[in-house]
Amino acid sequence: MNFKINIKQDVIDLIKIYNNYQFEVGGMIFGRKKFNQYTLKTLSFKKGKSVNIDFSSNDKIIYQLPEKQKIIGTWHLHPMQLKASPSIIDLKQWKSWKKNYIHIICTKREFNIFNSEGECLYGYHLEEM
Ligand SMILES: [Zn+2]
Repeated sequence: MNFKINIKQDVIDLIKIYNNYQFEVGGMIFGRKKFNQYTLKTLSFKKGKSVNIDFSSNDKIIYQLPEKQKIIGTWHLHPMQLKASPSIIDLKQWKSWKKNYIHIICTKREFNIFNSEGECLYGYHLEEM
């Protein structure tokens, strides 16, 4: 399948800011989705524990929607990884949601966007900071 991914500058800026955390933080991706075209507009934010982060429907704050946008996926950091790739736990969680979300995994050097099957759809190299 052909995916088109359009990332607004806001998302890149937020990732660069959040990327200063040394532990796993993450949240939801807000934007638009039309068939296989995704526009990533902004992110919400949740602090995880030192080694992992999980999302639950009780976390009201990360589900709060900016106007006219919907949740199109999730993002989180893997601060210890070089190459951004999902953990087994990530993959299990993504598949179990059955939501057709996209997922950003971000390391200090790059972020990759995956579909819920764990296929990489998009890669972005962050400049050295
Ligand atoms: Zn992860």
